[in-house]
Amino acid sequence: MVDLSGKVALITGGTSGIGEATARYFSECGAAVLVTGRNRERGMKIAEEINGDFMVSDVLDENSILQLKKYICEKYGRLDVLFNNAGIYPKFDPLECSKAEQWNEVYRVNVESVMLVSKQLIDLLVKSKGTMINTGSIAGIQGFTSGQGYAYAASKAALIQFTKMMAKIYAKDVRINCVCPGVIDTPLYFHLNRDKMKERTPSGLVGEPEDIAKLVGFLASNDAKFIYGAVITADGGMTL
Ligand code: NAP
Repeated sequence: MVDLSGKVALITGGTSGIGEATARYFSECGAAVLVTGRNRERGMKIAEEINGDFMVSDVLDENSILQLKKYICEKYGRLDVLFNNAGIYPKFDPLECSKAEQWNEVYRVNVESVMLVSKQLIDLLVKSKGTMINTGSIAGIQGFTSGQGYAYAASKAALIQFTKMMAKIYAKDVRINCVCPGVIDTPLYFHLNRDKMKERTPSGLVGEPEDIAKLVGFLASNDAKFIYGAVITADGGMTL
């Protein structure tokens, strides 16, 4: 377990899967955790269980992000860790049937939202000499084979590059990194056949959300103080 005591952490997409597991792990490691998402019921339940905090927030709504910032400043007076994790993976059609609406929606949630949230909160991270971790995907690195997720793969590749640019530009003040999970057992991949995915992975494993939470926890901790702009896979060997 890493030491996150004294740190204030914000997790987007904290109401489910990887974000939820990370909220739980951060809390165990001593951080004050603020979970966000649109699902109030889930968010409240998680916050209660971890003795943390929840605020309804849509990562696509700039007003909602501004309210979130106001809340953080008033309640905590600082932000040390930003985990940009909210994302979607809809069921995709073949290229010939692709629709611009779906492409744009995936881009908006997986890339534009990270810009909107980071844009509003980076000054708090600069002030605290904090850290940001973004959730990419191995789909943004290689021709991943989960169906026909062109928009998803392209959005995560864009996020990786966006992360690297921010990491370089803010390196004097903020440590910024990207985690790239392989197939993790969360509601996101509800339509994937787990056994088929296990067969495709050298280790024979599908990951648990906690596998990613521990990596994010390490990156958020001072133990990772020399890690800047890294794109770290955790995929049971799927990209080998
Ligand atoms: P999940 O269980 O479906 O969780 C997705 C989270 O994103 C939910 O908490 C959801 O919250 C939030 N979200 C979606 N749209 C949002 C919006 N407009 N505003 C605010 N929150 C929003 O999926 P997951 O697997 O944990 O995914 C988390 C991240 O990991 C995503 O970026 C995903 O692309 C990435 N990832 C997952 C896998 C995998 O195998 N599971 C692999 C690689 C990368 P609400 O519903 O409460 O709004």
